[in-house]
Amino acid sequence: MPHPLRSLAFATSLIVLGVLTTTPSRAQSLVPDLEQQVRSKAAQIEDKLIAWRRDIHQHPELGEQETRTAGLVAEHLSKLGLDVKTGVARTGVVAVLKGAKPGPVVALRADMDALPVKEPEGLPFASKAKGKYLGRDVDVMHACGHDAHTAILMAVAEVLAGMKDELPGTVKFIFQPAEEGPSLYAAGSDKIWGAKAMIREGVLQDPKPDAVFGLHVTSGLPSGRIGYRAGAANASADELRIKVTGKQGHAGYPWRAVDPVTTASQIVLGLQTVVSRRTDLMKSPTVVSVSTINGGSRFNIVPETVEMSGTIRTYDAGVRGQVHNDIRQISENIAESANAKAEVEVIELYDPLVNHDKVTARMAPVLERAADGDVVVTERSGASEDFSFFLNEVPGLFFNLGIVPKDQDPSKAAPNHSPNFLVDDKALVVGVRALAAVTVNYLAAAKMD
Ligand SMILES: [Zn+2]
Ligand SMILES: [Zn+2]
Repeated sequence: MPHPLRSLAFATSLIVLGVLTTTPSRAQSLVPDLEQQVRSKAAQIEDKLIAWRRDIHQHPELGEQETRTAGLVAEHLSKLGLDVKTGVARTGVVAVLKGAKPGPVVALRADMDALPVKEPEGLPFASKAKGKYLGRDVDVMHACGHDAHTAILMAVAEVLAGMKDELPGTVKFIFQPAEEGPSLYAAGSDKIWGAKAMIREGVLQDPKPDAVFGLHVTSGLPSGRIGYRAGAANASADELRIKVTGKQGHAGYPWRAVDPVTTASQIVLGLQTVVSRRTDLMKSPTVVSVSTINGGSRFNIVPETVEMSGTIRTYDAGVRGQVHNDIRQISENIAESANAKAEVEVIELYDPLVNHDKVTARMAPVLERAADGDVVVTERSGASEDFSFFLNEVPGLFFNLGIVPKDQDPSKAAPNHSPNFLVDDKALVVGVRALAAVTVNYLAAAKMD
């Protein structure tokens, strides 16, 4: 039985929720004229938008090797009369559009990199591209839809540049390399890449954005549907490495050796209690996975070492730090109890992506209008996204755009990163409308504060 006061609170919260959900969510636009212009200009360049997307799809490039893509982007932005900077974080492009009227600064970001995935034949614009990934020859494909993001942001730049005289503020376009990680060196080396590298090179300065927006296409939603979520939306991702060192010996005389195999096994089981017994799951769903375990050379030798690797996912910075400490403590103490040694290394790759509550609430009706009412509040995503680093610095919102053709079931669609991942071109114009509409609304709303 719930506590009566609690059930009262629960009932009250239901009433509040009820009020919220019955409030007309497609509220009036603050800038109906500008939003209408966005809609008609986006429709006018839809054919060009699709052609760009297909061209970029056919010529995918890996992280920090996006020279052709960056060239296309820079040429387009220069033609629009924007102030363009290239070579940011190696292959990134940044451009600034100054509206004729004074106002705040909005940054919009698209990522440009592809993945080491082989695309099957079929599409007339299917990729046959090859590339170098960590020194290996690989096939390359836009299997995460960053081709769509790049083309959408090119179109948004054209739409907003065409409204320059009426724009109350400044828009910064950020075309980012290496969201999926670098391809020329291993993640976890001393180098940084992608969003982090751009921030280090001052992309969020001069002018400093007041808000940042971006989108990701997803196989989880039907074509043209927009999904969003306030607060933590994407998980942090850390790489876990554990090296267990024992003492090599004859497996017929295990008492003369220190066995890292049994110790590593105990550590794997011990780590299962990090989430189940120690983590505050009210604060953050959490995952600790040991995914590889390697050691030994022969059936009758106790090896010297066993090496393991895995991944850690959380949605909260505090929980993340606690999980790292717990993993260290459990691993080191289990090893010590076996007279072995465990060395734990955690490589922090991506922070949790946390959408700004106030910005999300303000922009939800804008997204709803841009998608003609086809919006949904999504679950958290277990995937990570380095847009999180921009959101650590500047309030903003990162939302999803469905790309699964309407006659197909998203639950059966090939996911992002699959060779069969497929973008329905009809969704692209919705992405353009959404990003451009969010921008003009933010600029106008901030002015009214
Ligand atoms: Zn991806
Ligand atoms: Zn992606």
